[in-house]
Amino acid sequence: MNGINKNLNLVYTLDGKIYINLTNRCSNRCLFCIRNLSDEIEGKNLWLDNENFDSSAVIEQFKDVISKNPESKEVVFCGFGEPLIKFDMFCEVSKFIKENYPSIKIRVNTNGQANLIHKKNIIPQLAKYSDAVSISLNAENKEKYNFVSQPFDKENAYQAVLDFIKGCVDAGIETSASVVSGFDKAPVNLQECEKICHSLGAKFRNREWLPKGY
Ligand code: SF4
Repeated sequence: MNGINKNLNLVYTLDGKIYINLTNRCSNRCLFCIRNLSDEIEGKNLWLDNENFDSSAVIEQFKDVISKNPESKEVVFCGFGEPLIKFDMFCEVSKFIKENYPSIKIRVNTNGQANLIHKKNIIPQLAKYSDAVSISLNAENKEKYNFVSQPFDKENAYQAVLDFIKGCVDAGIETSASVVSGFDKAPVNLQECEKICHSLGAKFRNREWLPKGY
């Protein structure tokens, strides 16, 4: 494990926010995934040549980025992969941020499958380290979800996402659930998705699909 790896884009900035890119691994293969369209976001290549780094490498990059962007008020765990696959690393980095930069808000953008991946309920710990979560609902039913998201566990993924949304709401985390609209290969029923979100107690977010990312 490397303590510091300056060649990897683990931490980057976008629109005044700091983003943390923990992994390129994901339990989905979404048809609209930005990784299918581009190697980078705003000029930052988010493909990691290797994942042989530990949380101290992320923290070192974070310290460097925050020192150059002291006005930043929000950190988002979101990159070219599912951040909660590396849940222990997420906790270590978030703990450092909470202890050293308590005014910064922490949000996680996730596919909502962490409990399924880790085979345990990680939400109580997530609630300690995350102020907000944005969870990809992606579709109004299991069949459409499986088509558009191509999860590793087609039998259980959609229900796991619904349970994760409800679990985060119940744990007091500011929770929104999102769909990507305007992607012609997989049109979603926005009204149905919004109804599902609200029935679970989450805010609804419609993200418009754009050919060069969404
Ligand atoms: S969950 Fe996110 S990172 Fe994973 S394939 Fe879908 S869009 Fe890409």
